[in-house]
Amino acid sequence: MNISLDFDGTYTEDPQHWNQFIDSFLEAGHTVQIITMRAEHETNRSLKDLAKKIPVHFTDRKAKLPYAIEKGFHIDVWIDDNPMWIYQDAKQERVDFYNEYQIYKHAAEALGLHVKNYNEWLNS
Ligand SMILES: [Mg+2]
Repeated sequence: MNISLDFDGTYTEDPQHWNQFIDSFLEAGHTVQIITMRAEHETNRSLKDLAKKIPVHFTDRKAKLPYAIEKGFHIDVWIDDNPMWIYQDAKQERVDFYNEYQIYKHAAEALGLHVKNYNEWLNS
């Protein structure tokens, strides 16, 4: 199986367990790669560490499926907290919302407050 794992809102929610998932699936002979809508200049320590182990692809806000087709690889299983971004380009407005959410999330965590998930936050 060729598996695409999303980064923001998926891997980032529990890196320790996703690392176990990645190791386990690699060991079983599957391939796992990160396909993120970030641009390459938005990489961070965590993505750099992942890139030592598995391919990391940056679509730069482009929909993930057309990106994969264009690059010539086939994904069997998509794991993504926002499945619409497999098919749709990210609109800047959505990206702005997501960045705003990250600011809220870090502030709430720093203050020890309950942290709403992204969809809860969007609907509040
Ligand atoms: Mg995501």
